[in-house]
Amino acid sequence: MRTYRAVIIGGGSAGLAAAITLKQNGIDDILVLEKDREPGGILQQCIHNGFGLQTFKEQLSGPAYAERFIDQARELEIPIKLNTMVTHMHPDRTIEYMNSEEGCVTIGADAIILAVGCYERNRGAVEIPGERPAGVFTAGQAQRYLNIEGYMVGKKVFILGSGDIGLIMARRMTLEGAKVYGVAELMPYSNGLPRNIQQCLNDFNIPLYLSHTVTHIYGKDRLRQIELSQVDENRKPIPGTQQYFNVDTLLLSVGLIPENHLAEEAGVVLDPRTRGPIVDEDYMTNVEGVFSCGNGLHVHDLVDFVTLQAQRAGQGAAEYLKNGLKQNRHVYVKPGDGISYVVPAIVHPGEVKETKEFFFRTKGLADKAVIRAVSDGKVIRKLNRTKLMPSEMERITLTDSQLNELTGDLVIEMEELK
Ligand SMILES: Cc1cc2nc3c(=O)[nH]c(=O)nc-3n(C[C@H](O)[C@H](O)[C@H](O)COP(=O)(O)OP(=O)(O)OC[C@H]3O[C@@H](n4cnc5c(N)ncnc54)[C@H](O)[C@@H]3O)c2cc1C
Repeated sequence: MRTYRAVIIGGGSAGLAAAITLKQNGIDDILVLEKDREPGGILQQCIHNGFGLQTFKEQLSGPAYAERFIDQARELEIPIKLNTMVTHMHPDRTIEYMNSEEGCVTIGADAIILAVGCYERNRGAVEIPGERPAGVFTAGQAQRYLNIEGYMVGKKVFILGSGDIGLIMARRMTLEGAKVYGVAELMPYSNGLPRNIQQCLNDFNIPLYLSHTVTHIYGKDRLRQIELSQVDENRKPIPGTQQYFNVDTLLLSVGLIPENHLAEEAGVVLDPRTRGPIVDEDYMTNVEGVFSCGNGLHVHDLVDFVTLQAQRAGQGAAEYLKNGLKQNRHVYVKPGDGISYVVPAIVHPGEVKETKEFFFRTKGLADKAVIRAVSDGKVIRKLNRTKLMPSEMERITLTDSQLNELTGDLVIEMEELK
């Protein structure tokens, strides 16, 4: 069995950035395994602008952003096996993959970086009653059909879920000539970025129905009508508020979930809040030598943060391959008041070599708030923030000396200011 120094599973933006960083840190014997026919991941179907504002200080399309990393990987001669699906991963870091040229192959790795992305929740997950006609797609599936395969999925469209993919697809379908009747959102606020609400809905006069959901699907072979109802504060449909839309297509943008069956098979412990692995400041999971980054770790709205965290995972894996496991005791990084989760969730005081970023989401909306990093009753860092919302990932940066001096768990908390 061939054993590599490092194997990266997934060749999307996270996998490519992690592989490049490993190579730049002197780890040569690496391999990227990617199940799709080209590298780049989800970015390849995101042909809209808005990628790379932080990383490159310019607005790129998804494929243009991906291309920069694909080019760099090529220059560094990083091998990427395409059309290659990893089917199993074991705690001893053996990996089973298959492709049409080699069949089923087992390899080993001194370090593995999981960069497998996420999957979309579908109709079954949201349990919409009614018939089961054609014409109900997840938004990402429709985006792939339209932007990569060249198929128009429908002409009269309704969208459930105001996350970014739903908003972007509302504009995309309109630009391709479809009529988008509206976007419905269960929550009283949108889960998409404010710029996407403006540029994808308001600019095209597409109505946004907040506190609404689809309560019935009608159609024998093809979708012909949906029933939309208003919901109460417990998100239950309010009888008598039904409206009907005669549409042939319903796009579902109702959540993304980190793809983690390989991680679970290898014994990686997942965080019930993010549904991705629990990682330390180097993005290592509880399984020695197994790292995680990108949407497989927690779902991101900005690719810039994916790239940054994947670079940290690449550095962490390189460090592990050179120096082995950290020996110091660890402390936990926990979400406090107003915060739903924090990544990374573990730190090794005394062994942190550089400044680290902690990524978190708030539980609710806050116009003005203070974010604090607290340990042993002492405030280590404080940030004043405005316009916080759960859909936008936030970060707080702590220096290596602040982290190395921690004696107890670190808590990230938010206090709303009136
Ligand atoms: C529709 C949409 C719109 C977005 N818009 C923006 C935007 O405007 N601006 C912005 O900054 N960000 C945006 N984002 C966010 C950002 O682009 C993504 O979060 C990021 O690209 C995810 O990268 P990733 O590498 O973690 O995942 P992915 O890109 O999904 O890559 C994962 C890769 O792993 C491969 N893989 C999975 N399992 C296996 C396996 N078992 N074997 C082999 N390979 C496997 C997959 O084929 C895939 O290529 C958007 C995201 C989406 C989905």
